[in-house]
Amino acid sequence: MKSMKDYEFWFVVGSQFLYGPEVLETVAARAQEMADAFNSSGKLPCKVVYKVTVKTPEEATETIKAANFDDKCAGVITWCHTFSPSKMWLNALKLLQKPWCHLATQYNRSIPDKGIDMDFMNLNQAAHGDREHGFIGARLRMTRKVIAGHWQDADVRTRLASWMRVAVGAAFSKTLKVMRFGDNMRNVAVTEGDKVGVQEVLGWQVNTWPVGKLAEYIAAVTDAEADALVKEYKRLYTFKTKNLDAVRYQAKEEIAMKRILDEEGCAAYTNTFEDLYGMEQLPGLASQRLMAQGYGYGAEGDWKVSAMTAIVKKMSEGMKGGTAFMEDYTYELAKGKEYSLGAHMLEVCPSIAAAKPAVEVHPLGIGGKADPARLVFEGRAGKAIVISLVDMGGRLRMIVQDIVCVKPIYKMPNLPVARVMWRAMPDLKKGVECWITAGGAHHTTLTYDVTAEQMHDFAAIMGIEFVHITKETTVESLERDLFLNDLAWKLRG
Ligand code: MN
Repeated sequence: MKSMKDYEFWFVVGSQFLYGPEVLETVAARAQEMADAFNSSGKLPCKVVYKVTVKTPEEATETIKAANFDDKCAGVITWCHTFSPSKMWLNALKLLQKPWCHLATQYNRSIPDKGIDMDFMNLNQAAHGDREHGFIGARLRMTRKVIAGHWQDADVRTRLASWMRVAVGAAFSKTLKVMRFGDNMRNVAVTEGDKVGVQEVLGWQVNTWPVGKLAEYIAAVTDAEADALVKEYKRLYTFKTKNLDAVRYQAKEEIAMKRILDEEGCAAYTNTFEDLYGMEQLPGLASQRLMAQGYGYGAEGDWKVSAMTAIVKKMSEGMKGGTAFMEDYTYELAKGKEYSLGAHMLEVCPSIAAAKPAVEVHPLGIGGKADPARLVFEGRAGKAIVISLVDMGGRLRMIVQDIVCVKPIYKMPNLPVARVMWRAMPDLKKGVECWITAGGAHHTTLTYDVTAEQMHDFAAIMGIEFVHITKETTVESLERDLFLNDLAWKLRG
């Protein structure tokens, strides 16, 4: 599995021959200086590689073709320091298969009052060069991220870094394999979907493996391996159980699932309490631990939320806020303190824990297996989003809602699972009305690290519908958006 640092972005500068070789040499040197400054800033998650100053249609085409087939290249960043006639770019851009960022910047920050003459003008024409470049992107109806501002400014670098993370998420999505242990929970609609259609659009390879094979892998884990892992649990978590056998069994499940996932190159998986053939416990602690290591997880066979969780974890690699599989459980509806309580029967990722999680063992009412060990904790307070991907029949809809997580307002000492409490935007009641109107699932990916703008950019790159519920959203505005989206997607076919 590639990490964020294994990817790079190609910096391609647009120009032409009109102003002579000296200008082109200066531009090449400056483009290299800009790439070096991006890389040494420590602000970008991946390396920027200055490739070429494009002056001919052939150079543009060869560069784009090479970018398409370079697995390390996660995206192309273009900038036109001068007028770079766009018909020269047209054939190349028609071939582009990688995410594209148009960085509308210029080398100098300020206009040099006394220094500005026609030589300066020939060298520094991004203000109109980037407009010609923008037109061809618009004319070709191409998805691209436009970021404007001076290349040394922190906000420009922050936005570029965010987009780069999205582009890596897109590259990761296109190679993502999801392992299913068992089918979707019987009769559930929202966790279903067209796996062929999703592979065509998002690249996910979603396939099944026998639960019996996993049971064999669990049986093959030695006691010594399990004990070594339990030792690590003791280092990381508070133990509030004496049932070490239950904990040791989860360690065996963790080791076995990681083994089988890695052997098959899968970065995400699902299971279901309805199919635990040959297993003693529903994986709880084991799934929580795997999520903390970056694997996607979806309960009840929900492969869409599993894959989205893996992608969001990849996009936020190295960040500290946390990303988890989540489920809307119940509401606090008392006036003035309206909140959602999110949890799951076991599997919430400890990357979002506000404090040291506790290992506990409790009975589980469903599944008919032994009492599973799990990590219990409170989620941290702070701004976050929840993400749901639903299959609308013929197309995918991504729904993102802005939320503010709070320290849970109750202790809930008898709730034996991890819990997160939040206020959905625009408020609990309207937020619920919007979410239900849009068809959002009860399962979500909750992230403190990835922003709604990033998920919007991801949806745009992948070509899927995006619905954002913000503090400004009303049911009326949302209904209109959904209606127009339906029409637009019919036209798009
Ligand atoms: Mn569930």
